[in-house]
Amino acid sequence: MNETIRVEELFGKNVFTISKMKERLPKSVFKNVMNVMNNGGELSRSDADVVAKAMKDWAVENGATHYTHWFQPLTGITAEKHDAFVSTPDDEGHMVTSFSGKDLIKGEPDASSFPSGGLRATFEARGYTAWDITSPAFLKESGTGVTLCIPTAFCSYTGEALDKKTPLLRSMEALETQALRILRLFGDTAATKVRASTGAEQEYFLVDKEKYLKRPDLIFTGRTLFGAPAPKGQEMEDHYFGVIRERVGEYMKDLNIELWKLGVPAKTQHNEVAPGQHELAPIYETANLATDHNQLVMEAMKRVAAHHDLRCLLHEKPFAGVNGSGKHNNWSLSSDTGVNMLDPGASPERNIQFLLVLACILKAVDVHADLLRQSASDVGNDLRLGANEAPPAIVSVFLGEQLEDVVRQLVETGTADSHIEGGMLRTGVSTLPDIAKDATDRNRTSPFAFTGNKFEFRMVGSADSMAGSTTVLNAIVAESFCEAADVLEAAEDFPMAVHDLIKQYFTEHQRIIFGGNGYAPEWVEEAARRGLPNIPSTIEAAAALTTDKSVALFERFGIFNRTELQAREEITYETYAKSINIEALTMLDMAGKQIIPACMRYERNLADTILVVKQVGAPCEAETRRLYELAGHIEAAQGALESLRELVNAASDHERAKDKAFYYKDVVIPAMNALRRPCDALEMLVDKSAWPFPTYEDLLFEV
Ligand code: ADP
Ligand code: MG
Repeated sequence: MNETIRVEELFGKNVFTISKMKERLPKSVFKNVMNVMNNGGELSRSDADVVAKAMKDWAVENGATHYTHWFQPLTGITAEKHDAFVSTPDDEGHMVTSFSGKDLIKGEPDASSFPSGGLRATFEARGYTAWDITSPAFLKESGTGVTLCIPTAFCSYTGEALDKKTPLLRSMEALETQALRILRLFGDTAATKVRASTGAEQEYFLVDKEKYLKRPDLIFTGRTLFGAPAPKGQEMEDHYFGVIRERVGEYMKDLNIELWKLGVPAKTQHNEVAPGQHELAPIYETANLATDHNQLVMEAMKRVAAHHDLRCLLHEKPFAGVNGSGKHNNWSLSSDTGVNMLDPGASPERNIQFLLVLACILKAVDVHADLLRQSASDVGNDLRLGANEAPPAIVSVFLGEQLEDVVRQLVETGTADSHIEGGMLRTGVSTLPDIAKDATDRNRTSPFAFTGNKFEFRMVGSADSMAGSTTVLNAIVAESFCEAADVLEAAEDFPMAVHDLIKQYFTEHQRIIFGGNGYAPEWVEEAARRGLPNIPSTIEAAAALTTDKSVALFERFGIFNRTELQAREEITYETYAKSINIEALTMLDMAGKQIIPACMRYERNLADTILVVKQVGAPCEAETRRLYELAGHIEAAQGALESLRELVNAASDHERAKDKAFYYKDVVIPAMNALRRPCDALEMLVDKSAWPFPTYEDLLFEV
């Protein structure tokens, strides 16, 4: 019998929620905290002391011994340095737990061990973490006990962002300012805030722990570097939404409990396309909170897996030839008065506001397609994009039939004759009123799809943070809102001007709209004809960060300065070179110490067999042919191994991070592929019991 799970009781149990603050803080302090939370600014030192004390008492009552400033450095994962709640013992040796307002608000981890892309050389190594008061503190239960985690932003001494959170927060503010201008144009005087919301659908694989531990590639790189395809893949489509297996079900149950306690609104779970692949989707939240929560989801997925003798793979492409894992960033914009600016709404005025918002988004995505592509790039995603069941590396927008039709009419026949009539705006397009939600079918192949009242950016990789793609989305839309508001605020005839602007944006940027099959090779050609960028790799995408266009965008809204962007580009190259280097070394290790020796032992067996069979005078053509085939592949594997080794050694000839990264992409990766091919062929020839590690079959079908 299952024990009863009461979600209402569990939810937020480990979070220092607003209601807990209300309960534990003096009224005046609580009011000040809410004020800073809603309107920005800083807590006074004395208030911070009071909050810190209440937070510590709550944490200690719930078993916490340590606290940490929890932050998101440019490694893409979260970092934490635990400090115990202890101070110097008193004269009689009593320990007094301590945690001050200063401890809460500011931390000083040594920045020098995190990637800084040169920011470190230019500035001081010192880094500061600062409490993001809009994301609540929480307790993490793990092997180290219970730790109070304080979500923070991480900056250098001179204020450069060393993390992913700071630019995200900056981009949210920029977008809010510009979105409010748009709302005001349409007569909305009530809204005072507009927040980007995101919901992260998270895909992942589960594999058996024992099997995982026999694969150095999974251990060191998170993906398989060798492996012949299993006889059955995902072609039967019987796994997607299939019945969840018992062991996986138990895992999902525990994962949900873990997440609910952390205040993560985990909602949907199902099997994904590939065998062994699953998905979890939470209910969407304000973007910075959703970003923090997605990090917690990824951490919890790994932690809970260990309790079930499983391992969770978050890599974008753990298995060649099988569906990869993505993270769909569902993005929308809502005001504090409850208006979702991406909701077409029922009334024509709202439709016009919606059409302007849509036109601005299309423009933003078209103008900054390279940047959006970059925001979804990471080393693992290079293998996913454009492969099985994943969007290609080309950014395009899916609107659905009805909206596409509206755009087409506006572009083709729309005349600037709109006028106010009986208090209603008309646009001269007959189909405009009542753009119904879900009026059209879905298109799973589109990288950026309108899905009723939100956009779903599906390019993002499963292991990536939500921060990068959300920051770029916020920034590019802030820019086009700003440009539209500049025009419209100055217009004498607003209805006319807004109509003209919508038509202009749709006309100029319609090339970005694509409703066809994004997985088809024809789309690649068509996109090239349209002049849309197709940027295949992470390191080619990195240059988009520092174009004049990009620097102008980010500096204008105070999201990144040029130095911060250069740092991020540099880190991309460094990370790429290091990652591929580890993969290459792991391949050399596995092929050199496991695969080739195992094959040689089998070769010897086979040769012995042939001798014996020959001695007794029986025919042995089959054995001989097999031996020749085997020897051929061993020869090829050994040759490929030697050349890969040489090429990896030569990588140190390149000093600049960018040169090195491109060397790994253009020279080392082909050599890795050349080694994989004969090894995978050998797997198909060698006695299964002699193969040194679990195969795709074992990993994918036996969880
Ligand atoms: P779909 O089936 O279209 O992918 P779901 O309704 O299951 O849609 O939503 C997928 C994700 O999108 C969930 O995380 C959900 O919370 C999120 N989502 C739904 N509506 C919005 C919205 N208005 N803004 C942002 N995210 C949203
Ligand atoms: Mg979806």
